Amino acid sequence: MTLDEILKEMKNADTVLILSHESPDGDAIGSSLGMCLALKNMGKDVVDVVMKEYPANFSYLPGAEDIKAEPSIENYDLAIVVDCPDINRVNLDYKEYFENAKVKVEFDHHSKNSMFGDYNIVNHVSPACSQILVSSFEYLGIEITKEIGICLLTGIITDTGGFKNSGTTTESFEFAAWALSKGINVSKIYKESMLTMTKSKFEVQKLAMDRLELLADGKISFTYMTKEDDKKIGVLAGDHDGVVEIGRNIEGVEVSIFLYEKEKGYKASLRSNDYVNVADVCMLFGGGGHIKAAGVSLNMTLEEAKKAIIEETIKYLK
Ligand code: 5GP
Ligand code: MN
Repeated sequence: MTLDEILKEMKNADTVLILSHESPDGDAIGSSLGMCLALKNMGKDVVDVVMKEYPANFSYLPGAEDIKAEPSIENYDLAIVVDCPDINRVNLDYKEYFENAKVKVEFDHHSKNSMFGDYNIVNHVSPACSQILVSSFEYLGIEITKEIGICLLTGIITDTGGFKNSGTTTESFEFAAWALSKGINVSKIYKESMLTMTKSKFEVQKLAMDRLELLADGKISFTYMTKEDDKKIGVLAGDHDGVVEIGRNIEGVEVSIFLYEKEKGYKASLRSNDYVNVADVCMLFGGGGHIKAAGVSLNMTLEEAKKAIIEETIKYLK
């Protein structure tokens, strides 16, 4: 089976590069560091987790201090991409290092995946990439140490929205139970990964709430942030995460939309509660994601982006 072949490649490699999607979240970082620790425990010479920046509240993760902004060598024996459905969603500065690696592997759980590795472990119904790593490590007999457990539990907690999203499975709870039995401080991980926020993130949330509008008979919530707002507040990596959840939690809302300005145009972040497939909405504009959590980059002005995404979303409402 593919997993056995991946294990062979992991054992054969001396140098490994680990990448994930841009603007990494808890699952991207947890999966990356969990994989990194597993490889380090195999005695590899070089295991580099490379990402430009990550939210400061994840700095408790074992190995976070070794995350690099640039790869340390040119040609890796093995490149592993986690929690990323397409190689173009990694930071493009790193793409050539992936292409240059002798062997390319991906682990992912997104609904639309381009199967870009030599080996692809993709499970669309898994609620977190970290959960795929748990079952893969268990199958392969790779020991899940306490440190690895902290990383993978962080990925499961964050991508299941703290075990509340409908995709949460029995395995998610079983892994949390296992972690607790091993003495892992589950409540501390929950608090740090889900609740603790930078002061600037709090300011972002305040402003986004203040601007939030209810549209389409209260079935759509909409809010936004501009680069100007970001500058005024002094936003840090990850400060926009979670804003879209605010609108989703309002009674009667089916789809929550959050637009925030990027270098070029706006990023749309969508969440649904019950029946709208927001991945389908985002795919209309070239984006994607999961049924109830999706996103897309829109090369438009705020007004254009707002009009376009709301017009399409309305078509999916009952
Ligand atoms: P978020 O709203 O948290 O940025 O993203 C929600 C989900 O949608 C994530 O699973 C993410 O990978 C996916 N997603 C966000 N932006 C894009 C995008 O531009 N393209 C694609 N294909 N997926 C995206
Ligand atoms: Mn994920």
